[in-house]
Amino acid sequence: NEKCTAEKLRRIMDCKRNIRNVSVIGHVDHGKSTLTDNLLAAANVQMTNTTERSITVKSSAFSLHYADCLINLIDSPGHTDFSSEVTAALRITDGAIVVVDCIEGVCVGTDAVLRQALIERIHPVLTLNKMDKCFLELKNDSEDGEDVGEDAYQTFNKAIDMANDIINANTDSDLGDVAFHPNKGNVAFSSGLQGWAFTLADFAKILAKNFGFEESLMMERLWGENYYDTKTKKWTDVKTNSSTCKRGFVRLCYDPIKKIIEACMNDEKKDLFVWLEKLDITMKDDEKKLMHEELVKCVMQKWFPAAKSVYKMMIDHLPSPETAQKYRVGNLYNGSLDDIYAKAIKECDPEGPLMFYVSKMIPASGKGSFFAFGRVFAGKVSTGLKVRIMGSDYHHLSETVEGTVICMGTEQETVQDVPCGNIVALVGLDQFITKSATLTNHDSVASPIHNMKFTVSPVMRVCIKCNSSDRAKLRKGLDLLYKSDLMAEYTTTESGEHFIAGSGELHLEMCVKDLRLYSRNIEIDVSDSEVFYRETDLEEQFLEPVYLVEFQAPKRALPAIYHILNERKGTQFEEMHREGTPLVNVKAIISVKESFGLSSAVKDKTYGQASSQCVDWGCYDPLDPDSWI
Ligand code: GDP
Ligand code: MG
Repeated sequence: NEKCTAEKLRRIMDCKRNIRNVSVIGHVDHGKSTLTDNLLAAANVQMTNTTERSITVKSSAFSLHYADCLINLIDSPGHTDFSSEVTAALRITDGAIVVVDCIEGVCVGTDAVLRQALIERIHPVLTLNKMDKCFLELKNDSEDGEDVGEDAYQTFNKAIDMANDIINANTDSDLGDVAFHPNKGNVAFSSGLQGWAFTLADFAKILAKNFGFEESLMMERLWGENYYDTKTKKWTDVKTNSSTCKRGFVRLCYDPIKKIIEACMNDEKKDLFVWLEKLDITMKDDEKKLMHEELVKCVMQKWFPAAKSVYKMMIDHLPSPETAQKYRVGNLYNGSLDDIYAKAIKECDPEGPLMFYVSKMIPASGKGSFFAFGRVFAGKVSTGLKVRIMGSDYHHLSETVEGTVICMGTEQETVQDVPCGNIVALVGLDQFITKSATLTNHDSVASPIHNMKFTVSPVMRVCIKCNSSDRAKLRKGLDLLYKSDLMAEYTTTESGEHFIAGSGELHLEMCVKDLRLYSRNIEIDVSDSEVFYRETDLEEQFLEPVYLVEFQAPKRALPAIYHILNERKGTQFEEMHREGTPLVNVKAIISVKESFGLSSAVKDKTYGQASSQCVDWGCYDPLDPDSWI
């Protein structure tokens, strides 16, 4: 792939069918950032801060082109403290790639983000990631003669089933059928770390050529109840007693990969090079000298380069803005769906009136200034354009866009204008926007785009103090933090103490780090974090009825739950088993204050905290008993 240039990207921006806006979502640690880095590298995009890779706390966006398509990728954090970042990413994308560790399967975080995506009518595709672990880590444990391939199939299938259960439970008819089916090509099998990935479409292509089958027919047989017997040379839809009868996926996908990887690991290069030649994989001389995992990586990258499969899956299975905006408009626009703005969004019309959603303010290179980052849903945004800014507390401001910037990793390039369907950063509006906003033509009477609905709220806080000489700087820092962080709030008491409120300990840690930067590294003193509730909210909320909550927790957490619920009448406990961990399903009627108590007891492992119509408050990771303190 040639180098990404702003001119090339700008050209594709006019071809709305060739655009894919995609969020990378999933449970923390399942490999989103590693996979994203690999995809970017393949498109020759330089990534930001790869050296200090750790938990992702902010989403970052990258525009790149692949084949003739423009792909906007947004890597998002998996930790629940930062789920507002996921909400913001989903708002401006139409599709999502759900990254799931192929061995750990669907986890609490997967459930939370996939649900969030479906509610925003975001079309998902799936990748079962860390596939290398499946081949490298089972060397020793296959002595009992069991079919490791069949075991792997069952593990993958279970993860897919669990993901589909979430999809079925959150179906929105406007989104159509989005369930994951490997034999339809919307599931990839990837190793982000080693840079390889395949879909069954890739295998079907290779096999169809060798077997003389039609590709679509071949693909059907590579998943589900399809077995091939090498002796009878026949396909069946049940496993026969014959020892030569094996599932299609295992025989034709899993086993060949295993054979190649084992040959690399066991240094059986003679056989390996013969097979590679048959697969049309050519190795350079220095590559032939590689050993073990390095050799696996090199061979697998040549056989199934991750970017090729994953980008193809995105292009083939995720909607373009033109397609997606038709069914997303109802969720997005706050006005009449018959007005000219709604129509322009629906048709993704670049000649229509401007509808731009600022999903977050991102730091520009100069300290203390921000880009207004977001998506053009209708019309065009251009340098010098006068826009009306609509936010929750600042209607009718008219301001001028000073520049439109595309983010291409470490490089940022200015273009003259950007039409609808695209993601772009705007210069010159940061003084007038806090957190998020809708922009339209300056003389318009449009309604704004709906505010984002967050699944977390600021329920923890820290107290901040500084030297009196630094007060002004701290104040400025707090203002910038409030403006740029979607979740952070702050208050100042009469005695001059500042409190920052956030969604959890990790989030507050990040807020303090940002605050240090924004207040130019003044000396600040930070208290321990504590659970709190805002008094104004509390009064309002206590007027409302109490909530019915339902959640699951490990059985050994029962004493803590009893303690908080204080043997309340009407509480139901139902024991259940999942993955061998004894669990209880708890249904109880509780007040807001108690929900915060429960929430703080489990801290950052909860999701879906109490909201005004809350019936589903949260779920503790059943596979991780430590998630309950
Ligand atoms: P994220 O939280 O989903 O963004 O996950 P990261 O990309 O930060 O990865 C979390 C950890 O998993 C890191 O230690 C990675 O090196 C490791 N990891 C990521 N992808 C793979 C993979 O494909 N295979 C293996 N074995 N490890 C991986
Ligand atoms: Mg990450």
